[in-house]
Amino acid sequence: MKAMEETASVRIDGKETARAVRGDVARAATRLRASGVVPGLAVILVGKDPASEVYVRNKDRAAVEAGFAVKTIRLPEDVGQAEFARRIEELNRDPLVHGILVQLPLPRGLDGAAAILALDPEKDVDGLHPRNVAALWRGEPGFVPCTPAGCIELLERRSIEIEGVHAVVIGRSQLVGKPLAALFLQRNATVTICHSRTRNPSEITRTADILVAAVGRPRLVQRDWVKRGAVVLDVGINRQEDGSLVGDVDYPAVAEVASAITPVPGGVGPMTIAMLLRNTVLAAAKQAGLALEGLGGRRI
Ligand code: NAP
Repeated sequence: MKAMEETASVRIDGKETARAVRGDVARAATRLRASGVVPGLAVILVGKDPASEVYVRNKDRAAVEAGFAVKTIRLPEDVGQAEFARRIEELNRDPLVHGILVQLPLPRGLDGAAAILALDPEKDVDGLHPRNVAALWRGEPGFVPCTPAGCIELLERRSIEIEGVHAVVIGRSQLVGKPLAALFLQRNATVTICHSRTRNPSEITRTADILVAAVGRPRLVQRDWVKRGAVVLDVGINRQEDGSLVGDVDYPAVAEVASAITPVPGGVGPMTIAMLLRNTVLAAAKQAGLALEGLGGRRI
């Protein structure tokens, strides 16, 4: 790992890396279209959560820009579990839809786990179906959740060494913390996961060569939580009272000791959509029985 002795850390620009991934995806989509396959992404949005509306709009826009066909299915908050499952089934059977994303969180009364279980695992581009979760831990081909895949992509595109280092992940959600720990382990890091019941977390985080915060607590990670020269990825997105966004890491203070660090916004966030697009184009190729080179990541 490139350790730096002095204060200035490298700012890991997620926007720039996401642009590069999206460029690769758009080129792959062009090749697929030339073979008669238009990558198709369906996004299901239930209810009217304002943050989800923004995320879905951004995903739609990025997918269209990459040359995909996009279907946004808006369902009312009172849709009911049976009708929700029926709509997912419809998409499972639709040959023009290669990837399906259920925007989470779902409104109260709907069972998110049941919805994910209803997805065809071959179209589960968010990597949350138990079959894809098992594949990840078993080291078998499958879809990897987009945010953790994006974290790894940020490190690998910068040749930041993962093998043999101590990677500490704060947070153990199905969406980020757990799959990220699996990805680090697969790459031969020694992995520690911290969570809300961890005693003295800063004692552990201070031993991290790579530290990832995926918690949802503004500025939880302070300067004295971080070893000099560590690489710090901030997954957290916390909206402040004035509407601005901050991460889980106290960026200005931690940047004085880290060798490289992601900002919020503009770090891990843009990678999530880029990896969703990559998963979808890989799904389209696989379902069409076509090979795609030059996309990196895991085979599916
Ligand atoms: P989550 O499901 O709420 O999980 C948060 C995790 O943090 C839990 O495992 C929790 O521990 C742990 N935690 C809570 N307080 C803690 C503390 N004081 N010390 C140590 N660990 C603590 O959240 P998530 O979905 O993983 O998301 C985490 C953050 O990332 C949120 O800010 C979210 O908005 C953001 N996010 C960003 C992206 C992106 O694209 N950049 C994507 C997804 C999520 P327990 O398990 O013990 O409760």
